[in-house]
Amino acid sequence: MKPIVIAGTGLAGYTAAREFRKLDSDTPLVLISTDAGDFYSKPMLSNAFAQGKSAETLITASAAQMASELHAEILTHTHITAIDRDERHVYFDGGDRGYAKLILALGADPIRLPLQGDAVAEVLSVNDIQDYARFRNTIEGKQRIAILGGGLIGCEFANDLAAAGYQVSVIDIATHPLGRLVPETMGTRLRDMLGTVGIDWHFGVSASTVDRTTEGLRIGFNDGSSLMADVVLSAVGLRPRTQLAAAAGLTVNRGIVTDRYLATSDPAIYALGDCAEVAGLVLPFVMPLMQGARTLAKTLAGELTPVSYPAMPVVVKTPACPLVVAPPAMGAAGAWDIQLDAAGVRALFQDASGALLGFALAGTANADKQALTKQLPSVLA
Ligand SMILES: Cc1cc2nc3c(=O)[nH]c(=O)nc-3n(C[C@H](O)[C@H](O)[C@H](O)COP(=O)(O)OP(=O)(O)OC[C@H]3O[C@@H](n4cnc5c(N)ncnc54)[C@H](O)[C@@H]3O)c2cc1C
Repeated sequence: MKPIVIAGTGLAGYTAAREFRKLDSDTPLVLISTDAGDFYSKPMLSNAFAQGKSAETLITASAAQMASELHAEILTHTHITAIDRDERHVYFDGGDRGYAKLILALGADPIRLPLQGDAVAEVLSVNDIQDYARFRNTIEGKQRIAILGGGLIGCEFANDLAAAGYQVSVIDIATHPLGRLVPETMGTRLRDMLGTVGIDWHFGVSASTVDRTTEGLRIGFNDGSSLMADVVLSAVGLRPRTQLAAAAGLTVNRGIVTDRYLATSDPAIYALGDCAEVAGLVLPFVMPLMQGARTLAKTLAGELTPVSYPAMPVVVKTPACPLVVAPPAMGAAGAWDIQLDAAGVRALFQDASGALLGFALAGTANADKQALTKQLPSVLA
């Protein structure tokens, strides 16, 4: 029997495999991954420094343990280079595998800013456990860390590294942290609350150059000013990995395009997680991939099941300012109603009839999370 092949051993690939195994213990399962195939929780990468966690301690199961748990074959350090859809084969250096069904769980690449300068190659990003290990080694014995991007991941790293004793600067073209997720009044408050751990913010500018000098790395901004740092971490966003799918002639847009059954334009190939654009939505978070993995497992086991997404607030891991955001759908019509007090912020995005479409809560207002989540519309009904 030809196996189900899963490309990728991140949370999407492994969760899909686990969910499938709950329903089917016989069909051969092969997972293929560029990386070492160790299981870890990626969200922990941005709050592990202050807890002193190394890459090894974040790994909760090796590839061999996962293979045994899943009753699967796992090919590690194996990069898939091509898909032959007619023959139903994937190709990699030194071999190929046939598949009955193929699941693309390929993740996303960090976006690189178009920087100039002689030290651009030294700019790091942390998008997987190997990056985390490299970053930890690089900052050992250093002091000044500049983070490009004050979005969710940039703020989490900033809080974590500042709490671990580093001197942290954050650079963002927006006027406040989490620029795309919270309204400005709230963002200004967040800037102050997160600032209590000692973050040096640079808003309204973008980095254009990174050069090595005798005093460290000089980051030049578009307004002519500059900042010195020992290490530069880029956290300006992710781009779904679509190249493999595109080369195989699958429909891609922002992500690998799928319907609500996670099926791509080829009914034998599915996509899940950060690489996928499901029913028009690119949602690079854990909750959507969990929902998708559950329904995909049912579909693969013979019960055709569409994915639906409930409201899925995201907890921002910034202990200096506990925060949860449920941004309104893109283009939603409405306005923010913001209540600020000394201990928190409660920002509600409502339409003209007063229906709740999104929220952002900080500090004591976090206590309202559950009640407000119940009032939100589903992300995909
Ligand atoms: C620092 C950080 C913090 C985060 N915090 C949160 C959070 O608090 N809450 C939340 O909901 N989400 C968070 N996220 C997002 C969440 O972690 C991701 O949405 C999720 O882990 C994506 O899983 P994935 O399996 O789709 O991708 P990945 O984990 O990137 O896995 C992709 C897999 O594909 C493999 N691969 C890629 N190309 C090939 C190829 N050609 N051949 C073979 N294998 C290939 C890779 O080796 C890897 O195994 C965070 C992300 C980051 C980076």
